[in-house]
Amino acid sequence: MTHVVAISPHLDDAAFSVGGLLAARARAGDRVTVVTCFTGNVAHPTGFALACQLDKGLDAHVDYMALRRAEDRAACAVIGAEAVHLPLLEAPHRCYASAPELFAERRDDDGMLAPLTAALAEQIDLLAPDLLLGPLAVGDHVDHWLVRDALAAIGAPVLLWEDWPYLTRAAERPREPVHERHVLTDDDRAARTAMCAAYTTQLGFQFGSVERMRAAIARIDEEWLYVPGGG
Ligand SMILES: [Zn+2]
Repeated sequence: MTHVVAISPHLDDAAFSVGGLLAARARAGDRVTVVTCFTGNVAHPTGFALACQLDKGLDAHVDYMALRRAEDRAACAVIGAEAVHLPLLEAPHRCYASAPELFAERRDDDGMLAPLTAALAEQIDLLAPDLLLGPLAVGDHVDHWLVRDALAAIGAPVLLWEDWPYLTRAAERPREPVHERHVLTDDDRAARTAMCAAYTTQLGFQFGSVERMRAAIARIDEEWLYVPGGG
């Protein structure tokens, strides 16, 4: 059996970006595992990290990451995928203090690359993927670039997806060589939509509403995978 392992920066990225492809692989009998990197908890978030929770309509006392881990388990359950959650802290819980900083250069005092690389190397050893997938970092989120750079440092063969919904706001498609254009079937699209709908805390922020998310996915015909570093 083929083992497909998707390395997702945040709790939603793999489903948002390649949910249809993962669903197709699962339906074909492949084992699918989604490893999400930045799922760690901070007991009492403050400042920008707290703001990221409050602007999703969640009170300060809500365990935001626990909620998102549960959403991810529900999303993976849609296609029978396994969910692995690494307890690393996402950018607002590190040294990034505003939304623009999340899409700017990696900060010098951000020491995440080494522990992330070590944690992902361990997972790849453990899971022994036949097909390893990760983010191209379309949209330039610092956490997405960290995952791309960590995967490059590990050196295992990997194919990279176009980060969605960032892709819809990008001026042009990535320049790396395209490896595969997965044409979405109706079943793929339905599964991707159902997976995405599980991330209820993110839908308003990312799309405006669940209906808009559904409409956006209805317009997507293909999910493209790229070979890293070639462009
Ligand atoms: Zn993300």
